[in-house]
Amino acid sequence: MRKPIIAGNWKMNKTVGEALAFAEAVKTKIPSKDAVDSVIGSPALFLHGLKEVVKGTDVQLSAQNCYFENAGAFTGENSPAAIADLGVEYVIIGHSERREYFHETDEDINKKAKAIIANGMTPIFCCGESLETYEAGKTAEWIEGQITAGLVDLTAEQVSEMVIAYEPIWAIGTGKSADAAIADEICGVVRATVEKLYGKSVADKVRIQYGGSVKPENIAEYMAKENVDGALVGGASLDAESFLALLEAV
Ligand code: PEP
Repeated sequence: MRKPIIAGNWKMNKTVGEALAFAEAVKTKIPSKDAVDSVIGSPALFLHGLKEVVKGTDVQLSAQNCYFENAGAFTGENSPAAIADLGVEYVIIGHSERREYFHETDEDINKKAKAIIANGMTPIFCCGESLETYEAGKTAEWIEGQITAGLVDLTAEQVSEMVIAYEPIWAIGTGKSADAAIADEICGVVRATVEKLYGKSVADKVRIQYGGSVKPENIAEYMAKENVDGALVGGASLDAESFLALLEAV
């Protein structure tokens, strides 16, 4: 039995005051961590303050990116060691916006996954295809390639603890979600790829999220699917009431 994991991805939104007010509003209302992992994916700027607000509650935190070195002359980057030191549990890596706008490669993402794990945190590893790839019927091949390249040299144990998010680029922020059947099918491709690389026990354990225009009204349809263990949610995670509604629907 895989525990559901719902992660909000705030992207580059909110001020520090808005971020802390959100955490205050949700911290005592979220479901127990025994039932579901509830994660806020915040800009790095707010993580320290957020941790102070949610300490002792079941709210968990995620960074949206980090560098793959712990320290050094890397102006403007965020150290995974420093993020871990705050008590942050997860880091999102390989989001399509980072791949597209910041030219992150599979190799960068693989190095980040290793650095995050080495610092005791869990990567939320994103993969997903463009509309062109989807329409050409090449989604499975694309996803298999991204996963195989992103997981290079990771051990079976490390992969079994990871979270993988399938996010079709054409469904992110567009209001156009992949329907639950498509999400289940491609999350199944993710699981089959993990099985091919690491075996059935790892594939049975790894948690796979769907992401792309998930909202309180449709999350239950996704969560009902066998291969979908959670959701990575952008727009609908920005409002405290909506975030709580997503968690309640699980
Ligand atoms: C995301 O950014 O990861 C995402 C899925 O966004 P949205 O829910 O807004 O489509």
